[in-house]
Amino acid sequence: MQIAGLSFTTTHTDTALRSNTSAPAERRITPTTKGPDILARTRVYIRDIELGGNRFVVIAGPCAIESETQIHDAAALVAAHGAHILRGGAFKARTSPYTFQGLGLDGVKLMREAADRQHMPMITEVLSERDIEGMVDIVDAFQVGSRNMDNTALLKELGQTKKPVLLKRGFAATIKEWLLAAEYIIVGGNDQVVLCERGIRTFSNETRFTLDLAGAVLARQQTHLPVIVDPSHATGNPSLIPALAAATMAAGLDGLMVEVHPDPTVALSDADQALSPELYRGMMEQLHLLATVMGRPLT
Ligand code: PEP
Ligand code: MN
Repeated sequence: MQIAGLSFTTTHTDTALRSNTSAPAERRITPTTKGPDILARTRVYIRDIELGGNRFVVIAGPCAIESETQIHDAAALVAAHGAHILRGGAFKARTSPYTFQGLGLDGVKLMREAADRQHMPMITEVLSERDIEGMVDIVDAFQVGSRNMDNTALLKELGQTKKPVLLKRGFAATIKEWLLAAEYIIVGGNDQVVLCERGIRTFSNETRFTLDLAGAVLARQQTHLPVIVDPSHATGNPSLIPALAAATMAAGLDGLMVEVHPDPTVALSDADQALSPELYRGMMEQLHLLATVMGRPLT
């Protein structure tokens, strides 16, 4: 059996995947026998925002939804300088259980109001399949975080929904493992999957993670899915984010996810990596210039 270009011996342990091999070949993220250019690129729609087309899509917002005022201010800020989709975490997968864990479903609702006020779609992370039901009618897209990339129960359940899924690469995952995680969602019947490279763990400790830009380009070559980059978690350093955002566009990828906070000095999570309003505005100005050269609409 071949899925995502990988060979498997068929055993009783892969029954779930085997039962889906009846899914049409074009549903698979990589053609099994032909080259990656054979199939048309999948267009993913987060409401009216298309990913995988010519437009370079910017997803921006705070790491976490902290309060009504904060998410409204953040939404107004990112909208003012041209972001297309609002991001923000309500269920947070923090490294330490003693840090802010997010506002949960109340946070999702606050974010919905803030996004609506700016006429933007919104995306937020789902940590557990238990939360899908409560979130599905509120959110425009689900995010699967790096720490959950191989949570197959969650992936399978998201495959049953009709909402787009942004699948972050596990920070210790190979490209093949990342693509197979995407395949879990797709074989369930949901082809609206966007891949997001957010940095992997290497021996380098000067940045929070190491952005695998080549891996992101490779994932786009090997699949028909849109691929975006998150330089915020990849670097943990706001001063590096604008340069890597430009590199992402120059590499021909489909978009960007960045963390922006109205006042990073008071942010409750990932404060050290949040773009200030000034840095965010500068980054967007630079992207607009580059977009002209690259022939990539940004507005
Ligand atoms: C996030 O985007 O808020 C996040 C937690 O990212 P990651 O899963 O990439 O660490
Ligand atoms: Mn974060």
